[in-house]
Amino acid sequence: MRITKPRLAVAKILIEHAGCPLSPEEIHQKTLSLKGISCDQVSVYRALSKFKDLGLATKSSFQGEAARYKLAGLNPPRHEHFFKCRQCQNVESFNECFVSKKERLLEAAGYKNVSHHLEISGVCPKCVNS
Ligand SMILES: [Zn+2]
Ligand SMILES: [Zn+2]
Repeated sequence: MRITKPRLAVAKILIEHAGCPLSPEEIHQKTLSLKGISCDQVSVYRALSKFKDLGLATKSSFQGEAARYKLAGLNPPRHEHFFKCRQCQNVESFNECFVSKKERLLEAAGYKNVSHHLEISGVCPKCVNS
C-alpha cells in the first residue's frame, strides 16, 4: 500500500484510539490537531475504505448513523457487537458474540446464509455516576 499523508494521519488516529470506533467526521476532526499532516474529509473517507479493504480496519454501523471505523485486531473475530451510550454517544465494542453459537446450530441444521445484526444501547456507568 502506498503511504500517503492522509492515510498516515488516519492510521495514527485509529492507533491512538484503538478499540474505540470513530466516525469519519470524528477522525477528520482529530486529524486537524496533527502537526504537519492535514487532510480533507474526502481523503479520510478514501483512507478508511482502503484500510477496510485491506482488513486493517473494521466498519460498524448503527441504524440511521454514519458508519464507524476502528483498528482491526490481529485475530479479528467474525464480527463484533457494540454498546452505544444514549447520553454521551460513546461507542464501545465487545469482542464476543452471543448469537454466533445459535447461528452455527442453525447452519448445522441446514439453514444457509445465516446472519444477524444486534445493537445494544443504554447509559454507560460514566454517565450514570455523573
Ligand atoms: Zn455515557
Ligand atoms: Zn453476533
